[in-house]
Amino acid sequence: MSDVISERAKNIEPSITLSLNTKANNLREAGADVVGLAAGEPDFETPAVIKKAAYEAIEQGKTRYTPAAGISPLREAIAEMYSKRLGLPYEGSEVMISNGAKHSIFNALYVLTNPGDEVMIFTPYWVSYPVMVKLVGAKPRIVELNADNDYKLTPERLKAEVAKSKPKVILYNSPNNPAGIVYSAEEVEAIGRILHREGISLISDEIYEFLTYKDNKHYSPVSLVPELKESTVVITGVSKSYAMTGWRIGFALSSSEVIYRMSAYQAHATGCPNAISQWAALTAVKEGAEEREMMRVEFEKRKEMFGERLSKISSVTFPDPGGAFYFLVDVSSMYERCGVSGSGEFCEKLLKEKGLLLIPGGPFGCDNTVRFSFASSEKILNNALDRFENFVEDYTG
Ligand code: PMP
Ligand code: GLU
Repeated sequence: MSDVISERAKNIEPSITLSLNTKANNLREAGADVVGLAAGEPDFETPAVIKKAAYEAIEQGKTRYTPAAGISPLREAIAEMYSKRLGLPYEGSEVMISNGAKHSIFNALYVLTNPGDEVMIFTPYWVSYPVMVKLVGAKPRIVELNADNDYKLTPERLKAEVAKSKPKVILYNSPNNPAGIVYSAEEVEAIGRILHREGISLISDEIYEFLTYKDNKHYSPVSLVPELKESTVVITGVSKSYAMTGWRIGFALSSSEVIYRMSAYQAHATGCPNAISQWAALTAVKEGAEEREMMRVEFEKRKEMFGERLSKISSVTFPDPGGAFYFLVDVSSMYERCGVSGSGEFCEKLLKEKGLLLIPGGPFGCDNTVRFSFASSEKILNNALDRFENFVEDYTG
C-alpha cells in the first residue's frame, strides 16, 4: 500500500477542526451525552433572503459552469463594496470567487510562491496554514508569539525575524482564529509599512472582518498602506459573516495580474465555484448587512457571558478575544495534575470524563492551550462551562 501513495501525500492528515467537529456530531447522533465547542462556524441558519436567491437561481436555470473567476455581477458587487470599505479602488477584474476562503488562500499561495520559498506564519495560527504552504511546495516558517503580548506581532519582532531571513510571503490573520486577536490601526499600519519597505508579499486573511466586539475594529493592511495593493491578496468571503459555511464561497482581491493567474490556476484545478452559491452570495453581499449585524450582536453577547464565567475559573488564563468566535485558553497549569503531556491528551481526557469536546491548541502551534468556540447557543455554552468547571474542580479542588 505504501507504494501506492506518493511521497508528497504520505504526510497529509485530516484537518483537526473539521474532523473533531464531525466527531462531536457523530457522538451526539449516536445518543452520547456530548457537548462540542469545536465548530468554527456560526450556528445560525443562512438568512432566508439568501436561501431564496439560491432557489431562484435553480428555477431560472443558473446551474451551468460560470467563468472560472466567478460571475461578473458578484465580482462587480464585491469590487464596489470593498472599494468603499477598504478606501482604495478595486475593479471586478481584481476580484476572484473561489470555493470558500480556504480555497482562495490556497490559490493565492500557489500563485505567490515558488517551490522552497518561505512563508512566514505566526502562532497561534489556523491549522490549515502550514499544511497549505507545504502542499504548494513552499516552506512554512513558524514564528512563535506568546500570550504575554496577547499573541500579537510587534513591528520590532517582525523586523528582527525579517533580518534573520526574508520570507517571500507573510500569512497574516486578523481577526484571528484561534485567539480572536484583532490588531489596532497603528499596529496594522506599522506592520504594513515594514512589508512594503522590505518587498514582502502579503496574504491577509480577513474572513472574520465583520465579527469584532466592543472597541475593536477591523483594519485591512491595504486600507492603511494602499501601496501594498499590488503585493497583497486580501482574503474574505461569506462563510462566517452570513452563516454560509456550507455554501463554499470565498473572495480574493488583488491586482488584476495576480487575479488573472489565480483564476487560470482555478480554471484547471476546479473549473469554477458553485454557480448557485455564487448567486446566493450576491444577495448576501447586496442585502445581507442587517442580518449580518444581528448575528454579530448575538455573538458579542455570548462572548461577554462566556468570558465572564471563564474568567472565574482558577488555573486558566486567556486573552480577551476582540473578534472571531473563539477563546484560546491556557490550561497548561493543569497538565501535571491531570496526568497529561499536552493539549491533545487534555482534550481526550475532558471528552472521556465530562463529555466536552474542545479543540487542542497543539495543531494551532500552542500546545499549552485549548480552543473554545462560542458559536453556539447560550444554553449549550453554559452546559459546556458547567462541564469544564467540574473538570477543573476534579483536578484542583
Ligand atoms: N481562514 C480562517 C482563519 C478560518 O478560520 C477559516 C474557517 N474555515 C477560513 C479561512 C476558511 O473559510 P471558508 O469556510 O470560507 O473556507
Ligand atoms: N475554520 C473553522 C475552524 O477553525 C472551520 C473548520 C475549518 O475549515 O478548518 O474551526
